[in-house]
Amino acid sequence: MAARKKGNPGKRAPCNLPTLRTISEGPGFFRDWGRKKRPLRGSPGEYVGARCIVPLRLNNPIIHLSRGEEFEEGNKMECTILESVPFRIDLEELKKKMRVKEGSEMVEKLGAMAQEAQKIARPKVCYRIAYVESKADDHLVIEGIRFTSRVMRINLDKVFRVFPYVATCGLELEEWSKSFEDLLEQFWAEEIKVLAVRGTIRHLHEYLTDRYRPGQMSRMNPGSLPDWPLSEQKPLFDLLGSGPATIGVQLKDSFLMTPIKSVSGIWFPTEDKFENCRLCERQKCPGRRAPFEPGLMERKYQ
Ligand code: SF4
Repeated sequence: MAARKKGNPGKRAPCNLPTLRTISEGPGFFRDWGRKKRPLRGSPGEYVGARCIVPLRLNNPIIHLSRGEEFEEGNKMECTILESVPFRIDLEELKKKMRVKEGSEMVEKLGAMAQEAQKIARPKVCYRIAYVESKADDHLVIEGIRFTSRVMRINLDKVFRVFPYVATCGLELEEWSKSFEDLLEQFWAEEIKVLAVRGTIRHLHEYLTDRYRPGQMSRMNPGSLPDWPLSEQKPLFDLLGSGPATIGVQLKDSFLMTPIKSVSGIWFPTEDKFENCRLCERQKCPGRRAPFEPGLMERKYQ
């Protein structure tokens, strides 16, 4: 349905690209030029402009609309919040990781904790689409915000559309984990929170891949490499606006996040898979996803 311009009923109003939005979760509403609240039409995946129906052009800014969300004039790029992130604990894997032997009295305890955590957990993630505006030697500007990192600059050499995000285990699980006094249970609870945030990042990756078809993607995280230090959390949070706070994540003066089991970063499309770990010399890191590659930094990023 096309909203018609007030006072000029026979003419279709011109498109306003920044107000494009996709119907992602279900029905929503927008206000037309006459400020009347109107339902959005179409099914998930269809693209509707707030002022007229327009086809999607891939490099246009898109705003996602969640169920019941309302469009307001002048509303530009926003974060999308994914709240219904599935969380299933693989108990066998958890037992193996926690070195809990079959037949020991710990098995039952750990199983009960995992079950309880699954009921309570509400892991969440916020993300937005953002566009690289300019590039220099050691920094780039995304939506008017400067990010200083030579590695990012090289990784995004041919990239213009990126997906900054913050994922969290959620306040519910954070509170639950504080209820344990036993040291071993506290340790297990921390591991369960790690599983929740990792699962949320995987979920976001699948969601973005499915929805935007960016092809292979890699991610960078502030604080993972000296080249992109933790202080770069500040511009990342600026880029995400109120998104992190909406999912309960706060940035402290130290640039750490609360809940501590939260992860921030930027997903970007790439032909060559990038892993922070390939540039990271840290030994015995339990989270290592790829072996360290000596000389890679000098070869590719300097
Ligand atoms: S090896 Fe560990 S510390 Fe280094 S980048 Fe990978 S996960 Fe981070």
